[in-house]
Amino acid sequence: PVRVRFCPSPTGNPHVGLIRTALFNWAYARHHKGTLVFRIEDTDAARDSEESYQQLLDSFHWLGFDWDEGPEVGGPHAPYRQSQRMDLYRDVADKLLAAGHAYHCYCTTEELDTRRDAARKAGRPSGYDGTCRTLTAEQKAAYEAEGRTAIVRFRMPDGPITFTDLVRGELTFTPENVPDYGIVRANGAPLYTLVNPVDDALMGITHVLRGEDLLSSTPRQIALYQALIELGVAKEIPAFGHLPYVMGEGNKKLSKRDPQANLNLYRERGFLPEGLLNYLALLGWSFSADQDVFSVSQLIEAFDIADVNANPARFDLKKAEAINADHIRQLDVADFITACEPWLKAPYANWAPEDFDEAAWRAIAPHAQTRLTVLSEITANVDFLFLKEPVEDEASWAKAMKGDPVALLTTARAKLDAADWTSGPDPLKEAVLAAGEEHGLKLGKAQAPVRVAVTGRTVGLPLFESLEILGKERTLQRIDAALA
Ligand code: GLU
Repeated sequence: PVRVRFCPSPTGNPHVGLIRTALFNWAYARHHKGTLVFRIEDTDAARDSEESYQQLLDSFHWLGFDWDEGPEVGGPHAPYRQSQRMDLYRDVADKLLAAGHAYHCYCTTEELDTRRDAARKAGRPSGYDGTCRTLTAEQKAAYEAEGRTAIVRFRMPDGPITFTDLVRGELTFTPENVPDYGIVRANGAPLYTLVNPVDDALMGITHVLRGEDLLSSTPRQIALYQALIELGVAKEIPAFGHLPYVMGEGNKKLSKRDPQANLNLYRERGFLPEGLLNYLALLGWSFSADQDVFSVSQLIEAFDIADVNANPARFDLKKAEAINADHIRQLDVADFITACEPWLKAPYANWAPEDFDEAAWRAIAPHAQTRLTVLSEITANVDFLFLKEPVEDEASWAKAMKGDPVALLTTARAKLDAADWTSGPDPLKEAVLAAGEEHGLKLGKAQAPVRVAVTGRTVGLPLFESLEILGKERTLQRIDAALA
């Protein structure tokens, strides 16, 4: 049975690359009816924070990810926070030392740096050179007498390491490229290099799907796994698949500090969770050659790691928005109305709460639904209904009022005043059309000053529906104000 994991380190903001990785693990688990383990890799006390952890949980909930083992749900391998599992790691490190798979290394950072620089200059491999691999008891005692402390270093096997990456195919790493590496700090703190594969082993993970940035740790982890199998700690080596990098602006890797990388940004702009999830799934995967928009259940049905592309994926905001717009259109109107609510209330709304008109909002909502790319756009589209006076955007005025709109607006006002306001938007359209004809203007040109007078903006929702919902009295008042 498939057992996959997502195992973020709780640092910084929720990053779209990390969320993409979580998504692929989740989709893989659900597709195969497997188990998703959620583990918190919080062994770096200096960088980890409770706030980041809460944000991750919140992001996962918002996107609709669920997990079978981990925080909030528990499971047979609890605890799922690495900071609560330190004894386990110490025990494994002791076993590795006792079996000779790891050794104490007394080299100081300065010594390592000096030798690394020398190796680089000489064109030799610059990884750990094995100085402490074969220390005798006397040599160790002498180092300790000097006051040196030791880290625990894993002893890599001599031969090359080959594995078949689920995304990239067969990969081989030669020993020069994978030197012995530290697994426990001198102060006794275990490192990612140890705790991550040890937990994967203890938790029975079958498939490790993670970012390409971790590809270089895979041969090390495979070697460690071999040792763990020998020690009876692990059963078998999991399969590995490395997901492509996500590139941001200027084709640079989307870094954790990049504001574009922060999931919260998309939430605040009003992406729907299903829209964002749909887009994130396309970062390295595709649903089909001619369909970009799909539901979560379609994703789960179709997702396979073998279809993930090894090439870097580009984060394209325009495409993300277009996909989100599709998901907005697919909502039931009632759900659209609910989804917009946070934006129609403070802090986004620019009108007083008591001026919000529920009936007007319900009437305009279907017109807005087909036009938004993100929900935050709703306020600018409907604020004319709730503001005492429409926003005054001077650029819009200047643009729409080119020439002399007074004559046109005067005629339009008279015709709108005489129009039937009880039969839908058509009579209102006829009125403006007729006003335009009198002044030699096509409908488009004739309606522009009316729109600006009434909504304050040059673009917006269909005008005659908007006028109808605003009502005769307020429409005429606004035209009068514009003419005054
Ligand atoms: N905690 C690691 C990270 O956040 C997980 C890496 C892995 O998936 O092995 O990068």
